[in-house]
Amino acid sequence: MTKPLNVLLLSSEVDPFAKTGGLADVSAALPQVLKSLEQEVRIMMPRYGSINERKSKLHEMIRLKDIEVPVGSTFYPASVKSSFLANAHDKVQVYFVDNHHFFGRSGLYVHPETKKDYPDNDERFIFFARSVFEILKRMGWAPDIIHCNDWPTGLVPAYLKTTYSDDPFFRDTKTVFTIHNMAYQGTFPRTSFAKTLLPRELFADDGVEAFGKLNFLKAGIVFADAITTVSEKYAEEICSSEEYGSGLQDIARKRKADLTGILNGIDYTRWDPAVDELIPHRYDIRTIDQKVDNKKALLDKMHLPFDERVPVIGIISRLADQKGFDLIDEVLDEMMKLNVQLVVLGTGEKKYHDLFEKAARRYPEKVAAALLFNNDLAHLIEAGSDMFLMPSRYEPCGLNQIYSLRYGTVPIVRATGGLDDTIEDQNGSGGTGFKFTNYKGSELLKTIQRAVHAFADQNGWKKLMKAGMGKDYSWESSAKKYLHVYRSVAKK
Ligand code: ADP
Repeated sequence: MTKPLNVLLLSSEVDPFAKTGGLADVSAALPQVLKSLEQEVRIMMPRYGSINERKSKLHEMIRLKDIEVPVGSTFYPASVKSSFLANAHDKVQVYFVDNHHFFGRSGLYVHPETKKDYPDNDERFIFFARSVFEILKRMGWAPDIIHCNDWPTGLVPAYLKTTYSDDPFFRDTKTVFTIHNMAYQGTFPRTSFAKTLLPRELFADDGVEAFGKLNFLKAGIVFADAITTVSEKYAEEICSSEEYGSGLQDIARKRKADLTGILNGIDYTRWDPAVDELIPHRYDIRTIDQKVDNKKALLDKMHLPFDERVPVIGIISRLADQKGFDLIDEVLDEMMKLNVQLVVLGTGEKKYHDLFEKAARRYPEKVAAALLFNNDLAHLIEAGSDMFLMPSRYEPCGLNQIYSLRYGTVPIVRATGGLDDTIEDQNGSGGTGFKFTNYKGSELLKTIQRAVHAFADQNGWKKLMKAGMGKDYSWESSAKKYLHVYRSVAKK
């Protein structure tokens, strides 16, 4: 039998401790499944001020205090608190890296009010990356694999290959770097590079520099032993063009042989209407008719009138350009001429807050917008909507369209990245949703019209719902693919 691997998963967000997007879902679910596959997995993340000590059951690790971590010419103390992911029966341990100066604030990356990036994000995540090594040494635990996720952890592979390359403690440690979103790169001015204390020659084209700046994401791509991203289609896309590669397409292409697309799985203990404790009426494929009670509850909550014959279109999203809101803006008035209602849950860029606030004022019977982050409402929208709209400009994987399938909430998506990999177009027969290819308002509108037309045939619609509900995107097969990648680079 092969020996179990020791894996440390590093992430800047882990559900339920801190979350802004899908990264948090993945960082919580994957380790639990790997553990059930008999691997030794632990998680490390920053201890943000928003994490409630009592609610999250954090406890001190007495041995792991006052660990000195250099950032530029200053040493900062790191200490570690610990907790567990609650709903696993074989619990996964989570370490929280604590330093009040860097993480004792409530936002993860941006100031909650101004929505501006914290000006010291370079130092915060240099500190996090460096502290990982110093903490592991103090702990006496050298993982076989450090699994890094997205730009906040991008410097870790660079440190391992340079600063710690002669350290016998990490002799057998390898890194895997997962790109959840190529457009968020963690770029900082050249002057930030000195704070990393990486060897000077690394600030170069074949190192951590891109377009004259320090680029954390690039550091991960260049120095990790293996790279993954969250769908096969997106793995191709990021190597193929500036549009998807956001300037790093050539770097990604250079490492194509080490790049694997692995679709995110779904944690069906949390996202399944048969067991979901956050929705008022549970249902499954056999009791599909009870879904409408959730629709009533949703509309009631959002102060919209209920009519079974009027399809409700749901949106749950970060309000960012990536998600296709400019297309929605373009066609909103035309869309409102259709017999539909629109329920939006989201937070992000001000221009999109304005867009939906205005729409809700203009169409008070048809549009409701909750411009905030609320997990309970996200579940109710999945359960209570008839359709789910996700016309993304690009989408590495996307989770909500896959949740929607299980909730019988038919997705309307643009054929890009993970949306293209997970949704099959309904064209007369078969399929699980509605897809369009060209990023154009007219195409989006036509596709919504197609969906609304299909909804009128309730028998056909139920077939479509059931086709989606029957799909299985559980983590098991994706976790095995990660394991395969780990094994391909591990020394064991
Ligand atoms: P991304 O990671 O690009 O934001 P995903 O579709 O992969 O997109 O994941 C988004 C996750 O964040 C989902 O679990 C979704 O339910 C959740 N989410 C996004 N916005 C909100 C919000 N305003 N309130 C509650 N949950 C949200």
